[in-house]
Amino acid sequence: MPTDFDILVIGAGQAGLSAGYHLQRLGLRPEQDFLIVDHAPGPGGAWQFRWPSLTLTTVNRVHDLPGMSFAETLPPGSESAPAATAVPHYYELYEKRFDLRVHRQVSVKVVCDRTEDGSPAERGPVLNAETDAAGTIRVRGLINGTGTWEHPFIPRYRGAETFAGRQLHTHDYRSAAEFAGKHVVIVGGGVSAVQLLDEISQVTSTTWVTRTEPIFRDASFGPEDGRAAVAKVEDRVRRGLPPGSVVSVTGLRLDDRLRAAKERGALRRLPMFDHIEPDGVRWADGTFQHADVILWATGFRSALDHLAPLRLRGPGGGITMTGRLATQVAADPRIHLIGYGPSASTIGANRAGRAAAVELTEFLRAG
Ligand SMILES: Cc1cc2nc3c(=O)[nH]c(=O)nc-3n(C[C@H](O)[C@H](O)[C@H](O)COP(=O)(O)OP(=O)(O)OC[C@H]3O[C@@H](n4cnc5c(N)ncnc54)[C@H](O)[C@@H]3O)c2cc1C
Repeated sequence: MPTDFDILVIGAGQAGLSAGYHLQRLGLRPEQDFLIVDHAPGPGGAWQFRWPSLTLTTVNRVHDLPGMSFAETLPPGSESAPAATAVPHYYELYEKRFDLRVHRQVSVKVVCDRTEDGSPAERGPVLNAETDAAGTIRVRGLINGTGTWEHPFIPRYRGAETFAGRQLHTHDYRSAAEFAGKHVVIVGGGVSAVQLLDEISQVTSTTWVTRTEPIFRDASFGPEDGRAAVAKVEDRVRRGLPPGSVVSVTGLRLDDRLRAAKERGALRRLPMFDHIEPDGVRWADGTFQHADVILWATGFRSALDHLAPLRLRGPGGGITMTGRLATQVAADPRIHLIGYGPSASTIGANRAGRAAAVELTEFLRAG
């Protein structure tokens, strides 16, 4: 197994698979010119870890990867199959059809520039990706598609460490049934928060808190709105700001399920509490709510720790991005981030994979 390639793709989720597909179309060969690694045990990207009640009817939409239909891989009658089985099955068939040869259970621990003697270099011609299971992989360019799933974000609230009940993030949610008979405080104003609130409020009592008043949209969310939302996030990353949440610019779509939840009073929202006590949460005006469980549905951040030695982050805390779809790191054109910021959706990941493959190949051929 060689360790030198033109391009390393880290992550075989929607973004990494799209990149692999397009690299091949550009004439690059898997395991010779480029290599895809992923540290998960099987195909499916983060989808293999989603909670069982997230089904193909409750996800927003999983767009087809380039060149192969998702629907055609679904057995009849599986329209409401769990996303955690249907999507990995699709990706598995996809990898086989396009012979992408993903190297699994290979974790990239660190990517850095180093000179031959191992000392840090300003910027060498080679990027070293140090892995746990495949040694150091030396490449000229990097397409990073490591997603957000592995970086659940929990904001800090005073007293959190004193809480005697259970705290968990959506990342670790499995089913509403485990909360029966307990009072659950759900924190967060995103799509996952309202979906889990809907499920849990059907089996037990809940309190829903969000930082800002959630905006529900009645009209269905059209392509125009989608483009506007993506443009706002793209503008932020081009200016070097952290991407921010897409829901903050789209609002929450009030579908039939959420409308029913609203009618039964489950979507009554309170502002954020001030702090956490051993047996509940307290607001600044002294109001107290007993809680057995605090569910943090407070989103995810990009999983980019392995890129830290490259010092890509600017003073604004974000990474300044450039290129046609803002996938290229402005300070280091050898590196593309896909599924990041404006491309953190299945359709965005598809497009970003293509843009990164085309631009990085052009860049390396020119160099
Ligand atoms: C609950 C939930 C529901 C969602 N629903 C939708 C939806 O309906 N529609 C939609 O468009 N989007 C949805 N999204 C957003 C979704 O995450 C993206 O659309 C897309 O699937 C992400 O693809 P990705 O390739 O960027 O990342 P991922 O699917 O997260 O893949 C990243 C891969 O990188 C690997 N990896 C990470 N770090 C390393 C490392 N250091 N070394 C090696 N491998 C590594 C991981 O093992 C993983 O396989 C949802 C997100 C969440 C959290």
